[in-house]
Amino acid sequence: MKKPNQIRAKKHLSQNFLTDENIINKIIQCFDLREDDHVVEIGPGYGSMTFPIIEIIGSIDVIEVDKDLVNYLNENDDQELVNVIQADALNYDYSMLRKKKPMRLIGNLPYHISTPILFHLLGFSECFQDFHVMVQKEVADRMVSTHGNKTYGRLSVAIQSRCKASKVFDIKPSAFHPRPKVISSIVKLEPKTSLGNEVHSKLDEIVKIAFNQRRKKIRNSLKEIFSPQKLSDCGIDPNFRAENLSVEDYITLSKVGG
Ligand code: SAH
Repeated sequence: MKKPNQIRAKKHLSQNFLTDENIINKIIQCFDLREDDHVVEIGPGYGSMTFPIIEIIGSIDVIEVDKDLVNYLNENDDQELVNVIQADALNYDYSMLRKKKPMRLIGNLPYHISTPILFHLLGFSECFQDFHVMVQKEVADRMVSTHGNKTYGRLSVAIQSRCKASKVFDIKPSAFHPRPKVISSIVKLEPKTSLGNEVHSKLDEIVKIAFNQRRKKIRNSLKEIFSPQKLSDCGIDPNFRAENLSVEDYITLSKVGG
């Protein structure tokens, strides 16, 4: 089996392969896998997490876009325990993999498209028990940020209105080959009961408008949707700016509808 550091990584696919065994073990421990878990992995690469995982759960579905890696995984999977799907994680229909139990998603996400992948995955929240994703620390901070913080924004509200989000731990660039320029973090997401498609699409619309003009007071940025009186009726100060409203406030506004 070729070792990742003997193989050329493709920069345009954000290929940074985990090579530090201790870190790999630590990550796998944090998944807290049960033998009968149904796991889907995005971007398995050379299988640094995939192969240790199948030792615990026996089989896994993986989504990989790079044909060379798809071939590598198939060639090194003598017992055919890895179901390798050559596809783009950005537009894959994850509901196709669904069996009886909710699935568990893991992935060291390609960093140049981690945010759009997250938005796409949120649309399948109902199919999943949880998501453990590795992203750049800067993205992780935005995912878990709360109102009043500089890092709080559209991504924070989109994620936290659908999931309970928590950062698990950071990973140094030295755990990878080649080394990324940034620190990475693992974030755990646990889907909440859905608010329904209508509320979610309203929420996405409100949040987009509010944060596109984040320096403006919401009485101005949201004036096409809510009168200052309506904002007050929802218990929200019309003089607040986008970053002062909590996720709950945005949910309240989305339910009211405007
Ligand atoms: N999990 C591996 C590799 C992480 S690097 C490890 O930790 O070692 C990111 C992986 O995502 C690479 O395997 C890359 O080929 C894959 N990838 C990049 N863009 C993708 C896309 N659009 N869909 C699916 N996989 C993608």
